[in-house]
Amino acid sequence: MDMGITGCWALVCAASKGLGRGCAEALAAEGVNVVITARGAEALEATAAQLRERFPSVSVRTVAGDITTPEGRAAALAAAPRVDILVNNAGGPPPGDFRDWDREAWMKAIDANMLTPIELIKATVDGMAERGFGRIVNITSAAVKAPIDILGLSNGARSGLTGFVAGLARQPRIASRNVTLNALLPGPFETDRLRATMAGAAAKAGKSIEAVMDERRALNPARRFGTPAEFGAACAFLCSVHAGYITGQNILLDGGAYPGTF
Ligand code: NAD
Repeated sequence: MDMGITGCWALVCAASKGLGRGCAEALAAEGVNVVITARGAEALEATAAQLRERFPSVSVRTVAGDITTPEGRAAALAAAPRVDILVNNAGGPPPGDFRDWDREAWMKAIDANMLTPIELIKATVDGMAERGFGRIVNITSAAVKAPIDILGLSNGARSGLTGFVAGLARQPRIASRNVTLNALLPGPFETDRLRATMAGAAAKAGKSIEAVMDERRALNPARRFGTPAEFGAACAFLCSVHAGYITGQNILLDGGAYPGTF
């Protein structure tokens, strides 16, 4: 299927690794020019070099910086001639007990996982509406649909973003201009972050990382973790011309782990 987005410009945040990278790869494969960001320049440049080698017809620009800061966002936005596609992503907040979280911990999570995407949407959505095409995909978490108790910061901050976007996506001046806003909710995907979480669990349980990962795979109906390539393919479809009637949706990618009918 031709996604119909060749020549578009995408800003893909937090994309040197993992799910963000999966999205950047899938978009570049569709002929989309990408601006990719990440905090560490080394991994970011390595990813960019691989993208340029695999997809020589697209422009790949890099912006090293923290997307959760005003400077990081300004630099990311300045790197693209226009933003037709925005993929919001950043690192997730740490796990813990809410009794230990002070205002600063909450503000950090809200800044990263709620206000940063809202700021980037604010900077781009009206231009998309004027041009008559725009796709915004927020990478959130399966925890928005089924909260994970130790990830209270994530449950809270990402749900705030989800509620805000639900309203914005339905504004006629956005929706009638072929601009869509949706979220992809990852369950367990095999990325550095997942490995780090499993390493913590393994150390606590006195087991090997592989043993813990095997246990977690066995708990999922698909008996495996998702891959960043699968995640990226879903993102590319949501960004395609074919997905113009899908907006304000929260799409779970979890191998069937969520047990509800809806
Ligand atoms: P990852 O650790 O594999 O990759 C994270 C990427 O984000 C890296 O490129 C890193 O440089 C970049 N990054 C992190 N913080 C940044 C910042 N402040 N500014 C710019 N770049 C930043 O992580 P992942 O597994 O791809 O996760 C991506 C998001 O999805 C996270 O918010 C995570 O909490 C969420 N999530 C992941 C899973 C999973 O199973 N992997 C499940 C649910 C939710």
